[in-house]
Amino acid sequence: MPDCLFCGIAAGEIPATIVSANSQTIAFRDINPQAPVHVLVIPRAHHSNLAELGAAGDDLLSGLVAHAREVAIAEGVADSGYRVVFNTGPQAGQTVDHVHAHVLGGRPMAWPPG
Ligand code: 5GP
Ligand code: ZN
Repeated sequence: MPDCLFCGIAAGEIPATIVSANSQTIAFRDINPQAPVHVLVIPRAHHSNLAELGAAGDDLLSGLVAHAREVAIAEGVADSGYRVVFNTGPQAGQTVDHVHAHVLGGRPMAWPPG
């Protein structure tokens, strides 16, 4: 997937501020943070969106969510609360077609989302 930005980050070919990583998933800071804590968690393997990741039927989705939880604890927002967002498709605002969980926290969150 040479054209994929997040595959490039996963491969270490594109710089990013890595928060934590394991054999299957990587967490790094969003380049345009929307909250005091804004970390993206991705699988190393390329899946375009949440639907494709879910359809793959392996344990990557649960690993991704577990990593999001670890990020929230490490960033100090687990108790205050945080939001995990998977924008999926154009109308939801997905701009990078490599599935990613946004972990957002450190400020009150509005509902409904914009
Ligand atoms: P989406 O809009 O697809 O839900 O989220 C994509 C996210 O990736 C955006 O929040 C955007 O700021 C972030 N992003 C785009 N390009 C880069 C990059 O080169 N590095 C990092 N760290 N984040 C990026
Ligand atoms: Zn990719």
